[in-house]
Amino acid sequence: MTIGRGQTQVTYAMTAAVAILAYQFLPANGWLLAGWQVAIGWLATAAIVLGARRQEPGDRLPWYLIAAGVFCNATGIGVAKSCALLWNLVDLPTPADPFFLGLYPACAAGIALLIRRRDRWANWTAMVDAAIITTGFGLLAWVYIIAPINLVSHMDRLAHAVQTAYPIGDLLLLAMMTRLLRSGGSRGGALWWVAGALGTLLLGDSSWVILDNLGAPGLALEETAWFARILESVFLAAFSLFAVAALDPAAVKLAKPAQETAIRLGPGLLALLTGASLIAPGLLALQVHEGRVVDGWSIAIGSTALFLLVVARMAGLLREVERQAQRVRDLARSDELTGLPNRRAWNDEVPRALERARRDHLPVAAAIVDLDHFKRFNDTFGHPAGDRLLKAASAAWHGTLRSVDLIARYGGEEFVVLLPGVDAASAHAALTRMLAVTPHDQTFSAGLAVWDGEETSDELLQRADKALYLAKDHGRNRIEVTAAGLRNTA
Ligand code: GH3
Ligand code: MG
Ligand code: MG
Repeated sequence: MTIGRGQTQVTYAMTAAVAILAYQFLPANGWLLAGWQVAIGWLATAAIVLGARRQEPGDRLPWYLIAAGVFCNATGIGVAKSCALLWNLVDLPTPADPFFLGLYPACAAGIALLIRRRDRWANWTAMVDAAIITTGFGLLAWVYIIAPINLVSHMDRLAHAVQTAYPIGDLLLLAMMTRLLRSGGSRGGALWWVAGALGTLLLGDSSWVILDNLGAPGLALEETAWFARILESVFLAAFSLFAVAALDPAAVKLAKPAQETAIRLGPGLLALLTGASLIAPGLLALQVHEGRVVDGWSIAIGSTALFLLVVARMAGLLREVERQAQRVRDLARSDELTGLPNRRAWNDEVPRALERARRDHLPVAAAIVDLDHFKRFNDTFGHPAGDRLLKAASAAWHGTLRSVDLIARYGGEEFVVLLPGVDAASAHAALTRMLAVTPHDQTFSAGLAVWDGEETSDELLQRADKALYLAKDHGRNRIEVTAAGLRNTA
């Protein structure tokens, strides 16, 4: 089944490539050229729909939206040619513009849906990255494309709006493209085909802009027949790349949620973010160099936005570092095998517990638990089985204790237990419950000491350890209480 999908993709890609190549050599007949382009666009639309129908029903909508966008834009080529050849309608806005422009919202909505399925929409880092890149290029677009449009006074309001809609549409797609590339989720071929399609589209649109800004040489190039065909082919390639993406065997994974959102800030991305952030000061320097700062306010607003975004990004990184530091601290205080607090956590915690007991005038008991003949268990059942027993016993013991109690792995098969607020009898009962739930008929010996109200945590533990020796001496599988502890509760 996967092979079939891949084959359709390859067959389609070759057909599209041949059709685009052939386009360069077609006779210079306006109807034929326009018809050819529309045909390539419609073929791409059909291929995207075919790809969409191979997805699970719930995952098809993004592709249908992209198909609608491509269909609209390709149809616009035919409409534009008809307007020009039949009615000599070439000045903006023409009836073709709504078709051309339809691509932007449709594709942006499709990509937005893909992003939503892959990732939490509010993935902070990814949003800020996309915003930095879009703001930087948005400023560039404002200064070189959108602001100059408003200076052209002979245009009417509708023409202005239509002309402005194109670069805004491009910025929308740029934002969606960067956000998509920064999303969690699968990064297979299909993602790169979609990004390639969007990039190609943006390349085509910005080529027009650059040519327009070049003045007379640009205009001359635009009107050169072979060059115009190459430029048109860029859009045909973009349509086809969307279709290649939709037919990609990995396209089914594109709309699947990310397992874990761990996006790296690699050198490429860092360079891109730096470049985008430097667009504002770069523009200012250029205009100062030309002797006249024309877009001072726009540059000021753009750089303010960029500064705030970079600070937001920094704040995000700092939060991440703090989260990881906390994780490292937690790891340093817990035992890897059993997940219980380790000796370090115990040593931190016990003095605090004694301090609380002193303040509240409450008793506190400490015990050392040592599995009996555990070496023999290992020798009989193997070390991995010993590990499993340590884990199971830890979980079982933990289950019998109260949430205020503390049980820690002190080392090897030795555990320590702190029971705040209880006397020797209750502590003894608690340890008896632990003994009862120890798995595999395994037993332990325990030494118990109740705090005398004066001693340090080390002294308390030493007394418990002495009691443990007694328990071992007296035949194991038992709990011994130190004399001082008994005296304390008496
Ligand atoms: P006793 O009743 O006198 O305490 O006898 P014992 O065999 O339990 O005491 P000993 O101190 O001689 O041996 C402790 C054994 O615990 C030795 C070691 O193989 C085992 N042990 C310590 N840590 C681990 C561990 O992480 N995993 C496993 N599987 N065994 C461990
Ligand atoms: Mg031991
Ligand atoms: Mg032991």
